[in-house]
Amino acid sequence: MRARTVNCPYCGKPVIWNTANPHRPFCSERCRLIDLGAWASESYRIADAASKDEPETPPPSAEQ
Ligand SMILES: [Zn+2]
Repeated sequence: MRARTVNCPYCGKPVIWNTANPHRPFCSERCRLIDLGAWASESYRIADAASKDEPETPPPSAEQ
């Protein structure tokens, strides 16, 4: 039976996909955590941008 391999989404190293690898599809815990961290900071940025929908204060008009 041939072992199925996938490429680590973070570093691209071939990873043997089996139940003995708890980090699949990543090659290691390190890559898994880095990728999760990148994903988390990405969603933080999205959440931050979304929270900036407070009403804009109109600029003071020069002409009266
Ligand atoms: Zn990796």
